[in-house]
Amino acid sequence: MNTIRIAIAGPRGRMGREAVKLVQATDQFELAAVVDHKYDGLLLSELDGFSQVNVPIYTDLAKCLQESNADVLVDLTTPEVGMYHAKTALSYNVRPVVGTTGFSKEDLKELENICREKELGCIIAPNFAIGAVLMMKFSQMAAKYFQDVEIIELHHDQKLDAPSGTAVKTAEMIAEVRERKVQGHPNEKETLRGARGADLEGMHIHSVRLPGLIAHQQVLFGSDGQTLTIRHDSYHRGSFMSGVKIAVETVMKLDSFVYGLENILE
Ligand code: NAP
Repeated sequence: MNTIRIAIAGPRGRMGREAVKLVQATDQFELAAVVDHKYDGLLLSELDGFSQVNVPIYTDLAKCLQESNADVLVDLTTPEVGMYHAKTALSYNVRPVVGTTGFSKEDLKELENICREKELGCIIAPNFAIGAVLMMKFSQMAAKYFQDVEIIELHHDQKLDAPSGTAVKTAEMIAEVRERKVQGHPNEKETLRGARGADLEGMHIHSVRLPGLIAHQQVLFGSDGQTLTIRHDSYHRGSFMSGVKIAVETVMKLDSFVYGLENILE
């Protein structure tokens, strides 16, 4: 396989740091540049914790893509900039692999259309952890037999978006197979607003934010006399990197848009 040149947006972040390590440790990957909103013109090696990483930092993504000759942009930033980054990368024929969460349905549709026009690969993955992808698949399997489901997602308290992209994606996958139902008592009333969580096609999603947590999700199914709980826990951000590696390798072979790692795992 040819070497894949990678630019990483958000290298100082918790996910970005792991992604820098992954690229450095992978033979067929080469870190071409990084994109940040500060430290323009410095080398990444001049920042704390990156002593051996001699790649330029750009604050201007367009300039970065023009000068770095990157094949893939890995974006691990914030929902506000993630969409701009993905669109800009595609406009320079650079394939985005986006882990940033919080994209709207309209954003995803827009990216899908750009990819179709340009016949270029792009992967948006709300969760790169293989175990989380299996949790979603198993939940979809269970939803054929259990119509009543509630999702509890638990994350660290610095997470910006709620509910998590994984929870939304899980509910959407369940909705594909679950007979539509509004759950709970038809006359149920919240005496404290938000007590029943968010509602996605009648399923309820609850978001927990606590220091100490990383990324966790529990999908609870209930029917007469039984419950089924499917749970996944990420204890360390390294848990996401095998998925990032697969996504980078796969996006180079794609000429279309993919949302969700489950669609590229065999
Ligand atoms: P984080 O630690 O806050 O990192 C985000 C980084 O992006 C920070 O270094 C931030 O810099 C930087 N940034 C902000 N604006 C930028 C810009 N315009 N250009 C470049 N960099 C910019 O967050 P995280 O925990 O690493 O998570 C990053 C994203 O990945 C979030 O959306 C999160 O939900 C998502 N996530 C996805 C997965 C997955 O498996 N797909 C797993 C975990 C997290 P400052 O700190 O200076 O603002």
